[in-house]
Amino acid sequence: MKQEHGERDFNDPVCGMTVSHMSAAEELVYKDKIYYFCARICRDAFEVEPEKYIPHHRQYGMKPS
Ligand SMILES: [Zn+2]
Repeated sequence: MKQEHGERDFNDPVCGMTVSHMSAAEELVYKDKIYYFCARICRDAFEVEPEKYIPHHRQYGMKPS
């Protein structure tokens, strides 16, 4: 049996589940980047606070006080 290639996997940024662009239930474009979600509820959560879920390249050691 041959495995299908060419289907990229993405991480649902809200719940961390692996979704592919074929199996994703929802998608959302934010700042020219496309995000895939396993369900509508995750997309909604992301839409409310996208910055909370986007993985940041920089790490900040500061805590808001
Ligand atoms: Zn999800």
